[in-house]
Amino acid sequence: MNIDNALLTELGAALVAGNLTDKSLLAQTGATPNLHILPNANVIKIGGQSFIDRGRSAVYPLIEEIKQNLPQHQMIIGTGAGTRARHAYSVGIELGMPTGVLSVLGTFVSMQNARMLHYLLADAGIPFIEPAQFPQLPLYLAERRAAIFFGMPPYTFWQRNPAVGRIPPHRTDTGAYLVSETFGTRSMIYVKDEDGLYTADPKKDRHAKFIPQITVAELKALDLQDIVVEHSVLDMMENARNRRSIQIINGLVKGNLTRALNGEHVGTIISAD
Ligand code: ADP
Ligand code: MG
Repeated sequence: MNIDNALLTELGAALVAGNLTDKSLLAQTGATPNLHILPNANVIKIGGQSFIDRGRSAVYPLIEEIKQNLPQHQMIIGTGAGTRARHAYSVGIELGMPTGVLSVLGTFVSMQNARMLHYLLADAGIPFIEPAQFPQLPLYLAERRAAIFFGMPPYTFWQRNPAVGRIPPHRTDTGAYLVSETFGTRSMIYVKDEDGLYTADPKKDRHAKFIPQITVAELKALDLQDIVVEHSVLDMMENARNRRSIQIINGLVKGNLTRALNGEHVGTIISAD
């Protein structure tokens, strides 16, 4: 195809003619302002292992709180996978399955959780959407104020190998994060079963200290043995254009989700800046 260079901006001409591995050309592509596609929506990731696996006592009050917040807040709700995925991973690993296949297994478990929460929210008219239905997300938010999706990013076989071991490194925390980053949403809230980030897993170390606020750089420098979100979320935050902070809250405490949606500093805030 013959493109008339007169119609192209300087960047356009450089991109059409240039090499997409050229560092200075790539740097120019970052110079335009960011577009916030869904600036009024909040992405909420509901933990699998930490939350949904606890069953009715954890899930029912949170579902009620979500419904109560529908008049005030748009919510894009993603689900974790949890214990059943870990079991599938363990069987798959013993059978020699590669990371890409383990990723497929985890996807179906997070879909199971999304399906169940979806039926609990069905009477509020909230749809469950798969990745192919994301183009309808703006309509669903405008009409019903919320939608529910499975948190696993749809990498499936294309999931990259981790540096160590075989567990898919990009799981549901990451999938939810990327939705928030891409759509420029108002917030990214992780609903788990601890008050936020501590210096160690509070389930294993009762002297663990609560960290209300920290930057990605500070957190990486601490080099903690275990953290409350997937490491790949922190890596992605370093290059974030929109979603430069995340909030981790204890969803077992009634009112925490509402407070976070209202912009209050409840739980831990991890920021890239
Ligand atoms: P999800 O269910 O969303 O996948 P995970 O179970 O993977 O959540 O991660 C949350 C859990 O991480 C918490 O329940 C907590 O026990 C554990 N955890 C590990 N390290 C930390 C830490 N440094 N601070 C807080 N929680 C931690
Ligand atoms: Mg997890």
